[in-house]
Amino acid sequence: MSFLEYAPAPESTSVLHLRSEYGLFIDGEFTEGTGGSFQTISPSTEQPIATISAASDADVDRAVVAARRAYDRVWSNLSGADRGKYLFRIARLVQERARELAVAESLDNGKPIKESRDVDVPLVAAWFFYYAGWADKLDYAGLGANPRALGVAGQVIPWNFPLLMLAWKVAPALAAGNTVVIKPAETTPLTALIFAEILQQAELPAGVVNIVTGAGATGAAIVRHPDVNKVAFTGSTAVGREIAKTIAGSDKRLTLELGGKAANIVFDDAPIDQAIEGIVNGIFFNQGHVCCAGSRLLVQESIHDEVVDRLKQRLQTLRVGDPLDKNTDVGAINSAEQLARIRELSDIGELEGAERWSPACELPENGFWFAPTIFTNVSTSHRIAREEIFGPVLSVMSFRTPAEAIAKANNTPYGLSAGIWSDKGSRILAVADKLRAGVIWANTFNRFDPASPFGGYQESGYGREGGRHGLGAYLAPAGSSVTAASASPTSTTKEEQR
Ligand code: NAD
Repeated sequence: MSFLEYAPAPESTSVLHLRSEYGLFIDGEFTEGTGGSFQTISPSTEQPIATISAASDADVDRAVVAARRAYDRVWSNLSGADRGKYLFRIARLVQERARELAVAESLDNGKPIKESRDVDVPLVAAWFFYYAGWADKLDYAGLGANPRALGVAGQVIPWNFPLLMLAWKVAPALAAGNTVVIKPAETTPLTALIFAEILQQAELPAGVVNIVTGAGATGAAIVRHPDVNKVAFTGSTAVGREIAKTIAGSDKRLTLELGGKAANIVFDDAPIDQAIEGIVNGIFFNQGHVCCAGSRLLVQESIHDEVVDRLKQRLQTLRVGDPLDKNTDVGAINSAEQLARIRELSDIGELEGAERWSPACELPENGFWFAPTIFTNVSTSHRIAREEIFGPVLSVMSFRTPAEAIAKANNTPYGLSAGIWSDKGSRILAVADKLRAGVIWANTFNRFDPASPFGGYQESGYGREGGRHGLGAYLAPAGSSVTAASASPTSTTKEEQR
């Protein structure tokens, strides 16, 4: 089969005005960190982009002190309508600088420009617009009369959707009246630092949002700081567990958005063309660096071979390469460490007896790359069916009855998301009701909306982000005392999971 060749269509980087060095953003100013520095590199070329300050414990303390001062003196005295005006302003500035943010995100993260341009950045603006609307309506959020902000929120985010995860954290925190100290991931600090410039442009009062860069030690310093009232973490289950232990027994509030191993279930009456696109979007969007990725495909046995064949045909048309090329479908893996993990788990898949297949594709010489991969003959006990690979790797299994599909889908320590493909609404509702996953998509996958709550069961964490629920994570009913955090990600109550 021959395919149309696409001429290169690289997005220009002339829109970027990057500095060669970035300090920490504390109390409204860029300031040098005292914990040394590190380079952020482009994962598609391994070329350095900028030198970034690492925040020491003392720097984190400076940031928390600034956030507390801003909370006491400014932010907690503003009306909701005035807080909302700042959020609207930030949303509009994100839209104005959208192209620059998209290019920076693709450069630093490796994701295709068409995703950062059409998904990440528009959703960032949408999140700020949405929560701007809530800022003066907290009394009507169904969270009790006169709900109050918690104080200083300490937030730690991962590298897969760097600016979007920042928006998920910062927008509801500010709308609810909290101030913030946030740490982006060490491999993707760039858009958070451009966002700091946006905060300056928006004239957000100094100290309301502080951005400290650094690795895990900086995140840990935020989490254990005694003057932080609320910790919001998105990242791996292992680190989430550590954080839960650190703050257990304190009066800090905690939300954890952790890993996943979602089942994408295709019944034999599903619209196959649509399902194929949904499966591809489910696992190859953002190189599979998606916590809610549909990494376990469960196909009804009667259509298994047809679906696998059509999937293979579709994968041969995916264009893997330069993230800044507008035709690219699959970009670079974010880091050498992540690439090593994807390779290791994929090799284990083969050793365990699963059948591995990738389309022929030429991968660039420099940078971190992994071809889209499908495993068939996978059993539920295989590590590739149980562990989060966080890469462009799909494990395919089959089932005969809805009951078997549900049992296999729920056979996981995680519980973040799931997908169901069927022509029958009644079947979709019946199966969705029995799946233990926080988000369930029907005849679609990986759709996000700021009004819709997102979060997991079991080892996928607890608490919800997005919507009214996401607001509740940053508010306490008037007169209440902040409740202690639970000791383990699995000890979440039924109420928290709902
Ligand atoms: P990670 O846990 O290694 O790192 C996440 C963040 O935590 C980074 O900023 C890191 O510097 C920081 N960190 C590391 N050790 C820390 C410590 N001891 N204390 C405090 N902070 C610390 O995860 P990652 O590799 O960056 O991200 C991938 C993971 O994130 C995947 O498991 C993915 O499923 C998950 N994720 C979940 C969601 C969700 O909403 N559920 C969204 C995106 C990513």
